[in-house]
Amino acid sequence: MAAIDDWFDERTLMELVPIEVYVRGASAVEAGAVRIITRTESQLLTSVEAGDDVVGSEWSMDGEQLTFACTCGDANERPCEHLIASALATWPGEAPDEEG
Ligand SMILES: [Zn+2]
Repeated sequence: MAAIDDWFDERTLMELVPIEVYVRGASAVEAGAVRIITRTESQLLTSVEAGDDVVGSEWSMDGEQLTFACTCGDANERPCEHLIASALATWPGEAPDEEG
């Protein structure tokens, strides 16, 4: 069974979104905007600071299918910058882990 982390490598993420979305996500992580709420093999739930707002992002595995959602409303056909930021935040050393 595939783990959700398998999707969160740089190459896969860059194929999912346009480069400008990837770059905005990467800078959000660098700014410390991402908080990991839940992280399991099949789900990643985060909150991401977005200007004056905080949005909720979710990646999950539905069988072998990767699904995603974000309360910003931009994650329809493809992930938004908050989802990219969330995925990048799972990389070691990128964001504080609330469960740690
Ligand atoms: Zn979003």
